Amino acid sequence: MISFDLTDSQLEVQRMAAELAQKKIIPNIQKCDKEQKQIPNLIQDMAKADLLGFCLPEKYGGMGMDYISLGLACEEMEYGDTSARVALSVHIGLYSLPVCTWANEEQKQKYLVPCTSGEKIGCFGLTEPSAGSDVVGIQTTAVKKGDKYILNGEKMWISLANVADYFLVFAWHDLDMKKARDHNGISAFIVERDFAGVVTGAIHGKLGVRAGDTGYVSMTDVEVPAENLIGEEGEGFKIAMFCLDQGRYTVASGSTGLIRACRDACLNYSKEREAFQSPIAHHQLVKQMIANMEAGYEYSRLLWMKAGWKKNLGEPNTRETSLAKWIACREAEKSAADAVQVFGSYGFSDEYPVERFYRNSKGGSIYEGTREIHTLMQADYVLGFRADKPLRVHLPIVDQAGA
Ligand SMILES: Cc1cc2nc3c(=O)[nH]c(=O)nc-3n(C[C@H](O)[C@H](O)[C@H](O)COP(=O)(O)OP(=O)(O)OC[C@H]3O[C@@H](n4cnc5c(N)ncnc54)[C@H](O)[C@@H]3O)c2cc1C
Repeated sequence: MISFDLTDSQLEVQRMAAELAQKKIIPNIQKCDKEQKQIPNLIQDMAKADLLGFCLPEKYGGMGMDYISLGLACEEMEYGDTSARVALSVHIGLYSLPVCTWANEEQKQKYLVPCTSGEKIGCFGLTEPSAGSDVVGIQTTAVKKGDKYILNGEKMWISLANVADYFLVFAWHDLDMKKARDHNGISAFIVERDFAGVVTGAIHGKLGVRAGDTGYVSMTDVEVPAENLIGEEGEGFKIAMFCLDQGRYTVASGSTGLIRACRDACLNYSKEREAFQSPIAHHQLVKQMIANMEAGYEYSRLLWMKAGWKKNLGEPNTRETSLAKWIACREAEKSAADAVQVFGSYGFSDEYPVERFYRNSKGGSIYEGTREIHTLMQADYVLGFRADKPLRVHLPIVDQAGA
């Protein structure tokens, strides 16, 4: 049975996240974005509000809440600012849920439990200076020596690179397969910040997500214990794609929050600003831009909720998640461009938030699969060139009735 009603606990997560956005993000974001600084203590405040682990199983310190709740939290965070949602995307979507799904019990105790509480932060390192969309183009290697792997390479554009304690990274353990571009030669590892040979740094001068930490992770002869291999040797590519299924879901729901932020900013402004002796809200072409935002918001929301519903059931959802991510990011870009338009010259200045929405909206069509990659994926699904297959492991299934 499908219901569009939210349960009490889903409403509670939504309320908590909205409160955090109102109290902590919105009052501080203009200054932090301008100064390219993170909002002070935001991640700690998210942890205090249980937002860093609520959708992880209780067994690992979480609250066992469902994936619709995760989407709702992401919508509210990005309503505040994209940088806040990125923190949730990375820590929960790209790190904690995949570790919970693919790691063994010992690894989960060591590398998941402290992340569920927010005591430690995780991030995801796939992209490199010369390879983003083309995952098998990565150059990082992991050569096995006794009971260790020696990692060498550089990860680039990594969100939370300078904040995280643990990095889930991908590297070639088989150099012949690397030459042959056979993705079965890629494995996944957890690297700790404190391992010798790990250096991180920040990327400055970004177009958007300026209050977020984005950086590089350089690894030189890093000795990683063999027990830090996640999944089996050769499963790295599958794990990376699984991480993206969760990360893309949070981007989809977050971007939906950004559309809502654009819409709401325009509602207030268009009723106050007058042109030709009437509030601009009464001019039909302004109404059209606002109507498009409303439509984009509603269908983006339905798409991420459908993906979340499939996640709750433990069913393959790469197709639905990719569609939700592609469309929500596309609509967020359009809504933000129209929001600047509605504000006229004032939209062109940092006096109002819509210029930040516009800059932030661009990232969604680049990270976690560019819009071109999602376009190709959707065409391939419908043409029958691609289909989702069940994996050997799946996300923890949640009790939807009690969610
Ligand atoms: C703010 C931000 C945060 C990020 N955070 C992370 C993170 O935490 N971890 C991480 O690993 N990465 C992260 N990334 C990196 C991001 O995922 C990559 O930038 C993205 O995958 C695109 O890769 P690329 O930049 O190398 O572009 P490329 O892959 O070089 O693509 C360049 C252009 O070519 C197009 N293109 C490429 N291949 C094809 C094709 N086959 N058909 C049609 N068009 C194609 C692309 O769509 C794009 O328009 C982040 C990026 C940003 C901007």
